[in-house]
Amino acid sequence: MNKPKVVAKKRYGQNFLQDQAVLRKIIESMPKNNHKVVEIGPGLGDLTKFLVNVKSVEAFEVDTELCELLRSRFKEEIATDLLHLHCGDVLEVWKSSLMDEPYDLVANLPYYIATNIILKALEDPMCKNILVMVQLEVAEKFCAKEGEKVFNSLGVITQSVGSARIIVKVPPTAFDPQPKVDSAVFLIEKQRDRADKEFETMLRVAFSQPRKTLMKNLSAKYDKKMLQEIFETLELSNTIRPHQVATQDYHQLYTKIR
Ligand code: SAM
Repeated sequence: MNKPKVVAKKRYGQNFLQDQAVLRKIIESMPKNNHKVVEIGPGLGDLTKFLVNVKSVEAFEVDTELCELLRSRFKEEIATDLLHLHCGDVLEVWKSSLMDEPYDLVANLPYYIATNIILKALEDPMCKNILVMVQLEVAEKFCAKEGEKVFNSLGVITQSVGSARIIVKVPPTAFDPQPKVDSAVFLIEKQRDRADKEFETMLRVAFSQPRKTLMKNLSAKYDKKMLQEIFETLELSNTIRPHQVATQDYHQLYTKIR
């Protein structure tokens, strides 16, 4: 396999991971099961090369130039069904499920749509685990616990479906071209389906102004008197901030508000 030469396209968030130790770490951290692997944004195929050694892979790449290169680089793997390459914008083909069988998402994601992709994967009942590289700040939000400053609706949604942890922090020097920000690989192991949309609407209201009190934020949409009664029953202080409230308390709040 010869390594192709291309000019990275900023508009597609192309930062190619070159650090072999990080690539190996991603492979070592993959959950052990017989699920398929979905890779979003195979790019030049450096992660794909490792993935096809352990699993069969469904890869989605938007850049037609890279699709051509991947077709030639992975001719054998495509011929033997180890790799299925889908060319186009993954978000356009992703309806409720991306696959009709259980899969794990393993990818170095395009940062400009990373949060959106992870939320879609959390919602997709066929997606069982998510092992992805994203901007460090984004990884920290998905992995945050209550009480941490960065704990917000992303942390609550993640904890509602399973558990999340950072696997490794990755400096810009691991990529070519180098991104302006630090990155991290993190793993979400899903144990339940994502909660309903109404719960997430409540979360958006709860975290609308993160430094204000939860009471103030929620009373923009819900009746204040009712909230005061619920807070009292749940023993939540009227001055508590949204990031200080535990995931199970958000679920109880939601049940009572409904
Ligand atoms: N996996 C490669 C690596 O680790 O070096 C490339 C990762 S690069 C950060 C992100 C990749 O996602 C690029 O190849 C880019 O073209 C692709 N991409 C961007 N937007 C996409 C979309 N909407 N659908 C599918 N692929 C996309």
